[in-house]
Amino acid sequence: MHNSLLPDFIVKWVDVGIFVVNRDMEITLWNHFMARHSEQSADQVIGRNLFACFPDLPETWLAKKIQSVFLLKNFAFTSWEQRPYLFRFPHNRPITGGGDFMYQNCTFLPVKNDSNEVDSVCITLMDVTDVAFTQTLLKEALDSLGESSNRDGLTGIYNRRYLDKHIAIEFDRARRYGEPFSFILFDLDHFKRVNDSYGHLGGDEVLREIAQHVGSMLRTTDTIGRYGGEEFGIILPSTSLEDACFLAERVRQAIAQTPVPFQDTQIKVSISMGVSEFKSSQPNYEQLINEADQALYASKEAGRNRVTSYPLELQSA
Ligand code: GH3
Ligand code: MG
Ligand code: MG
Repeated sequence: MHNSLLPDFIVKWVDVGIFVVNRDMEITLWNHFMARHSEQSADQVIGRNLFACFPDLPETWLAKKIQSVFLLKNFAFTSWEQRPYLFRFPHNRPITGGGDFMYQNCTFLPVKNDSNEVDSVCITLMDVTDVAFTQTLLKEALDSLGESSNRDGLTGIYNRRYLDKHIAIEFDRARRYGEPFSFILFDLDHFKRVNDSYGHLGGDEVLREIAQHVGSMLRTTDTIGRYGGEEFGIILPSTSLEDACFLAERVRQAIAQTPVPFQDTQIKVSISMGVSEFKSSQPNYEQLINEADQALYASKEAGRNRVTSYPLELQSA
């Protein structure tokens, strides 16, 4: 190097990219790492303009970055998270699921001449592909874990944990903005008999089919989830009790009219439903669920395959 801070052979052979440019953006040093990965030897690039040699570089950004080091005489840094790479070098990992380039952390160092003036900038490039790759994998794993902890394993729809969180949020929103908001709870009728007649596999198939079928009848803003064994909840934002009952009745009829194909037979099922509506007098969202549960119980009592709203009023027979 042109000063005596580091022996030349270290700069040359260290497994880090090191190069230097002067004020005219001409390359004055190019170490072995840079040569190997760019497939341009020091002889080919030294004395030439950086951007003329490497037209794929982000010129506007990089020129500004280098100028700021000349101006401020300060060290600068960019991590792979801000900018995955400066030079698009292939990485040397055998297989990666992520990008097919080398992730890089870069530093920009002012280099002073003998008169103590900054006359060049030294740029170093660290290969952080392994770190970036591991971190990206970890993030993906955490994201999917977060998502799967909200999902019911059998049906793929949301689980009780998520439904409760979501009702709490909608409850707050309804309270704040005075928007209507309704909730439906439904339970499969005589589901024990389904299991007894068709086995647990038949029962499972019915649960999956019902979840999909009912889900397909909802608006995108509605949310269906599995509340427990064969009990489901539907959150209906911006929906009055009357509209919720109308939907519940359509769903009840659709399920009663659509047997579930299983092996070489068809399983007939029906559901009982309870509908409740947000009221500012309800102390908490649990009360809203509780009212839907009472209405559901009333539907069962009245003979099943029915919709009841709260305060208890039979909507269908
Ligand atoms: P009702 O009309 O009063 O609701 O009668 P029911 O037989 O549906 O009610 P009960 O609560 O007595 O029985 C529910 C049954 O649901 C019992 C349980 O074995 C079954 N069950 C709960 N979870 C699952 C599941 O994941 N898969 C299957 N196949 N069955 C389940
Ligand atoms: Mg049941
Ligand atoms: Mg039940």
